[in-house]
Amino acid sequence: SFEPLASDFYGFESLVSDREKDALMRVRSYMETTVRPVINDYWERAEFPHELITSFLETDVARYGFEEVRPFENSAVFRGLVAMEMARVDASMATFIGVQEGLAMGSISVCGSAEQRSEWLPKMASGEVIGAFGLTEPLSGSDSARGLRTTATRDGESWTLNGSKRWIGNATFSDITVIWAKDTEDGQVKGFIVRTDSPGYTATKIERKIALRPVQNADITLENVVVPESMRLANANSFRDTAKVLRLTRAAVAWSSVGVSVGAYEAAVAYAKEREQFGKPIAEHQLIQDLLAKCLGNITASMAMCVRVSQMLDEGTQRDEHSALAKGFCTSKMRETVGWAREAMGGNGIVLDYEAARFFADAEALYSYEGTREMNSLIVGRAITGKAAFV
Ligand code: FAD
Repeated sequence: SFEPLASDFYGFESLVSDREKDALMRVRSYMETTVRPVINDYWERAEFPHELITSFLETDVARYGFEEVRPFENSAVFRGLVAMEMARVDASMATFIGVQEGLAMGSISVCGSAEQRSEWLPKMASGEVIGAFGLTEPLSGSDSARGLRTTATRDGESWTLNGSKRWIGNATFSDITVIWAKDTEDGQVKGFIVRTDSPGYTATKIERKIALRPVQNADITLENVVVPESMRLANANSFRDTAKVLRLTRAAVAWSSVGVSVGAYEAAVAYAKEREQFGKPIAEHQLIQDLLAKCLGNITASMAMCVRVSQMLDEGTQRDEHSALAKGFCTSKMRETVGWAREAMGGNGIVLDYEAARFFADAEALYSYEGTREMNSLIVGRAITGKAAFV
């Protein structure tokens, strides 16, 4: 049965239906019982828990966003709360879904043909096919709208891809990767579903990360990789179409960042009630209460923003700048919150076993991926002024 989170101070979870609440509880229970007990060890070893993929996807976390595979009709607020629930226990598992469901399935859903959607979405929802999303390159991150160097050259019914990608999540073990490349004929960015066993495709793990260590990010090289026209995303005709995918995933990252804040805050509250200094639990000291109240303020404001940006998606009024504002704002507040939560735990705040440390480190990745704070500000700035400062 549904148990409201103490950290949902204004009761935003009450906005979703009973059926959605039940589904949310399934995700919470899976994350608490299956992921939480093991994830610090995976984090330390920088390994992804492959053996959990099937059971994780059985909670339907990669299904809710797509008509073709969803178990029931649902709201964007509910899907946001699912992202928050996952990240509240572990941001790496949330990121795995963010890539599989948000970026890879999202690209096929938004930019694919009906045939491409019905071919790939069911297999990806169940985990039979793992996907990745290759936009960023070694020489092009924030400027990927125009700076992409990977090329796609058409020759009759097939395309030849050449170039390199960097930071691509899930890509050391993905079966397919959505590769964004510039058409050498019209100069526009197009999307291709690339089978990772294609000759000329290689993916190499990026080692020694200090955030989201279980997430397997890769450098990809594409040397004369041949992709049939049937695997080109039928409705991806320029970067404007890529941006439609990013608008959705940025709102999801905003929700995940609230989850990361909640995870760290909950750890700090529990710790403050146990840890005694000056003869009483530190929770009874005024300045610790102030730190916790500031965390809760950030969480509550960010949740309110996420709820509204999700409602706007369902209302059909959400634009790029709305999700960009939420992504930039909520990840900034997350960074502040995980810092305060860690601070409230003193030295133990930097030890994995006390939980806040993992959220503290992982926050840095969420802050920078899916568009840095600066780039999301510039998208908002363009909406405010009518002038794009980044082209
Ligand atoms: P840069 O673009 O080099 O930026 C460096 C700094 O300069 C930033 O602070 C930036 O805000 C600032 N800057 C740049 N231009 C301007 C400007 N005009 N005005 C002001 N400041 C500016 N990409 C994928 O395609 N697929 C993935 O699955 C994926 N997963 C990722 C997972 C992780 C853990 C990480 C860290 C990254 C991932 N990325 C992925 C890439 C991510 O989206 C990029 O790192 C991000 O867009 C920033 O690009 P960059 O790292 O090249 O930084």
